Amino acid sequence: MENYRPDTAILELGPDFYDPVDAADFPETVLRYRDDRAAVSVGLESLSDADWIAHFGRYEPLPGNIRKPLALRYHGHQFQHYNPDLGDGRGFLFAQTRDARDRLMDLGTKGSGKTPYSRRGDGRLTLLGGVREILAARYLEHMGVNTSKALSLIETGENLRRHDEPSPTRSSVLVRLSHSHIRFGTFQRLAFFEDKDNLEKLVDYCRSHFYPDAVSAVGLLRRVVRASADTVAGWMAAGFVHGVMNTDNMNITGESFDYGPYRFLPTLQSGFTAAYFDHNGLYAFARQPEIMLWNLGQLAHCLAQIGDDKALIAALNRFPDDYRKAFRDHVFRRLSLVPTVLGADMSFVRATFKFLEESQTPWPQFWHDWQGGVEQEQSARSGPNRDHYCGDKFDDWFRLLKEYEGLETVEKPDTSVSLLYDEIGELWAPVADNDDWSAFHAKLETFARPAGD
Ligand code: AMP
Ligand code: MG
Repeated sequence: MENYRPDTAILELGPDFYDPVDAADFPETVLRYRDDRAAVSVGLESLSDADWIAHFGRYEPLPGNIRKPLALRYHGHQFQHYNPDLGDGRGFLFAQTRDARDRLMDLGTKGSGKTPYSRRGDGRLTLLGGVREILAARYLEHMGVNTSKALSLIETGENLRRHDEPSPTRSSVLVRLSHSHIRFGTFQRLAFFEDKDNLEKLVDYCRSHFYPDAVSAVGLLRRVVRASADTVAGWMAAGFVHGVMNTDNMNITGESFDYGPYRFLPTLQSGFTAAYFDHNGLYAFARQPEIMLWNLGQLAHCLAQIGDDKALIAALNRFPDDYRKAFRDHVFRRLSLVPTVLGADMSFVRATFKFLEESQTPWPQFWHDWQGGVEQEQSARSGPNRDHYCGDKFDDWFRLLKEYEGLETVEKPDTSVSLLYDEIGELWAPVADNDDWSAFHAKLETFARPAGD
């Protein structure tokens, strides 16, 4: 473990930020998934399976790391209603390390047992929930979105009852590797108590560990705005609907996480929602950028207790421009086209989304068909979406596409792979019926792993 570098930075914040807790004592610990590539980035790949299970299923501390797991305290807006009764209710911070790029990384759990914040919940994660989180994280990584990673999934031998799964259903515990678990809601809790000293402390923690070039609360917000705009732009180009954009699910580093009832678009429908409990479509596909801005506004409001509000508002107002640029970049990357000037490129992006919505062209295939631009015409017109590539609406869009050149070389993301709701069902069925994990692993093999982490 020569590249394993523990760094228990969270302890700098002190006991007002967390509660030490015990992990549940699970009847079984069967290793179902270990991400050795992610493990390499934090020097943990050489752990034997037995040691892996001891750490990530039974929560024996890692050497030189946090001695007792910490349930993190936070509040948040859930569906835009303030809830002071939150906090890690089924997870905790287990360890912190430096990765190969010297970033501070958190190993946080999901499904590891009850905490003071569990309320009526059981503190557990279903096996299907764990599988869904792995798939989302790996697919978003493949799509070039800034995402947390699923490091480990261990099945834990319990029977759980859930409204949204046939029950009883199998249990698991997940370890997530992420660049911070500081949420917008972590700030909201301190602002709620008007605890300026701890707000300052938290700003300092975020600046020094995540944004070392930021010099103030305003500088911090500026960077969070930019990072969050990039992430939500990445979701929009990937056709991802997060489902639960509550402020406690928003990471201060912009890394997206907590993949519960998410869905990927089968066709573009602006009002497409993921969570069955999102009755008003608040977190529908097309609303995600606006919701991100609303969430950032809540963060800015908290920082106003310790920073200059005019400057904070100015930082917040950068979101639309940041978003436009990031959205252009993600869409052009997905189509492997050479961008030109932002205004013209955005007209093309808008036309693309308009065409996709009006024509209801199957989403994943469309991006695959036109990756590289007009040169793909022949193969696109002979593929499964061919009936959508005719008529005035298509011709209008195609005329705009002709203005763009395809990227020459570089790695092109393989946009043909998809992760639609029904596909997840098809991967899950053999696991549920025969404990056959081969389709799940085969699917993961189709997701590329861009260099970088
Ligand atoms: P989420 O919707 O997963 O972001 O969680 C919102 C809040 O509910 C957080 O405080 C979670 O820790 C808590 N929570 C969600 N599911 C459970 C559960 N099964 N047991 C205990 N707490 C939970
Ligand atoms: Mg959450």
